[in-house]
Amino acid sequence: MKPQQATPRFHNLDAIKNWSIKDADDTYQISRWGEGYFSVNEKGDLCINPNQTENGPVINLMEIIEEMKNKNIPFPAVIRFHDILRSQVANLNKTFRSIIEEAKFTGSYFGVYPIKVNQMREVVEEIVDAGAPFNYGLEAGSKPELLAALAMNVNQNSLTVINGYKDRDLLRLALLGNQLGRKVIVVVEKYSELLDLMKISQEIGVEPMIGLRAKIATKSSGKWASSGGDYAKFGLTITEILQALKYLKSINKAHCIKLFHFHIGSQIPDIKTIKDSISEGSRIYAKLWKEGAKIEYFDVGGGVGVNYDGTRSNSPSSMNYTTKDYVADVVYILKQVCDLEDVPHPNIVSESGRAITAHHSCVITNVFGALEIGTDNFNTDKAINENILVSNMRELQQELSEKNYQDIYNDATKLKEESISAFKFGILSLDERAKLETLYWRICRKIVEHASLDEYAQDEIMLLKSQMAHQYMCNFSIFQSAPDTWAIGQILPVLPIHKLNEKPTELCTLVDITCDSDGKVDTFLSADGPTNTVPMHKLKDGEDYFIGLFMTGAYQDIMGDNHNCFGRLNEVHIFCDDDDPTDFYIEEVIYGNKASQVLATLQYNPDTMAQTMKANIDTQVKRGKIRPREGVDLTDFYENCLKSYTYLKK
Ligand SMILES: *Cc1c(COP(=O)(O)O)cnc(C)c1O
Repeated sequence: MKPQQATPRFHNLDAIKNWSIKDADDTYQISRWGEGYFSVNEKGDLCINPNQTENGPVINLMEIIEEMKNKNIPFPAVIRFHDILRSQVANLNKTFRSIIEEAKFTGSYFGVYPIKVNQMREVVEEIVDAGAPFNYGLEAGSKPELLAALAMNVNQNSLTVINGYKDRDLLRLALLGNQLGRKVIVVVEKYSELLDLMKISQEIGVEPMIGLRAKIATKSSGKWASSGGDYAKFGLTITEILQALKYLKSINKAHCIKLFHFHIGSQIPDIKTIKDSISEGSRIYAKLWKEGAKIEYFDVGGGVGVNYDGTRSNSPSSMNYTTKDYVADVVYILKQVCDLEDVPHPNIVSESGRAITAHHSCVITNVFGALEIGTDNFNTDKAINENILVSNMRELQQELSEKNYQDIYNDATKLKEESISAFKFGILSLDERAKLETLYWRICRKIVEHASLDEYAQDEIMLLKSQMAHQYMCNFSIFQSAPDTWAIGQILPVLPIHKLNEKPTELCTLVDITCDSDGKVDTFLSADGPTNTVPMHKLKDGEDYFIGLFMTGAYQDIMGDNHNCFGRLNEVHIFCDDDDPTDFYIEEVIYGNKASQVLATLQYNPDTMAQTMKANIDTQVKRGKIRPREGVDLTDFYENCLKSYTYLKK
């Protein structure tokens, strides 16, 4: 569960007098996590720069929103930027190519995209297409993923790497790939898989391409530390690897060993871990080569992090290196070890998923209301024979100043506690309790104002500030759209996508529309590390307010669940078109789940449900409780709700 924070921190915007879009960039750290793909224009709208520069095409997110409104595509919605996906694929491949050349490394790079990170067909298709010039392949971790990979990756020069536990059908499918002339490599995660693989391959007379995954000793920090080390779930120990080699030699199949693999976890925050794992892996590779395993591919797994919180630090939501640093370490360390051990430079394989997909999609939702603590519009005028507790609270309000706010806070809090006891004893009336609480929150609001200008304010008061933050109600489910914010406390960038030229005045947390008190976002990024609130603009009646959750392209939408039956979101796929006045077009709209679809996956039969409701309505019509015309409307209404989007209508 979420780590508790000791001291709450805030975006202190009080000091900023003349707000500019530069302040928006600082507040939400857009340039830092955005990798050049995101910027704010003069109008204060968030924009996408598919070429990572504001000099190229610029897509205004609000223009996409306008077009979606015109096309009646309701929110919340996922927006995918295919150009970002393509450019991430090209960047990784080009970086490997250039560093390999610079290092005079004699192997080549054959990256694979791990489908599990985002299995959506359009995403995989785009990656395969963008990767074609680089012979970029796919990685599969299950039977359905392999079925997809075999159908999608038809390039005979790129790899298909299979990780995860395997049964006979899965092994047979892999060999089918080999029969079609594809480079399908079965990575052995557990010794018995090797025996099964060799048996099936002998039965059908097809030689396998074998990979060996090692449990290396290097462990990562961060949230996926248990993927490495002796107790990892996957991989062979050094003893088992030697046994495998001995066995394959005994049946004259040692030449089938093509790949050596290790993977020490996702979102590796610290480059030191990467260096250590490459050193250890390179040595194992070199020693195995000398033992007679003529391995062609050195597969470093995934784990390249994403700078979600913009800090570029070794915090769990960040990483203290760039892709270029990572690639340089892989290439140079491997080269050095190979040269020292006098073995050939292998081809390099990496399985980056998060780093390829995280940036390409976001979730856009509308805020439909705010919950505020302690409404202020209750009449607190002094009544005759008023309870002394209420009078005392009123006096505290009058005495409050920037000098004594800490003392007043202590007294007011004590008084409020006493009032609850008094209420329980029947001494305080309902009206008096309401007055006292209204006065109390009025005092607290003023205290928070004083504390904001006081650099020595106590943690206790700062905590009050975060407790009094507005809750903005957002039309989405974090369990569907940002599960990692709930499950592992991952920070994702959250910000308004318009009005960024106006100073945001409200410190907020976000709550979603599930009936789950965990359905909230209350950890946000800032230049100084995690904060409990995010600055937002004041909501105005009759005006839309759109916010975005960014970097949701890796793992989020694919691991989302159906909590409260909300189901999948509407999606629009955006392509850049420099010749269009808006620089974009919507290439595809994929509608999210209708209520009937979500219910059907849970074994309900929406047709039967509609019939039952109609029969019930008819009965009431016959009894004269509902007018016939109204009965027909109600039947239609129920059926239309079944056919509609699950999220709140505006
Ligand atoms: C999940 C996984 C990956 C992808 O890791 P990222 O951190 O997303 O790059 C790569 N290889 C294996 C074996 C995996 O299980």
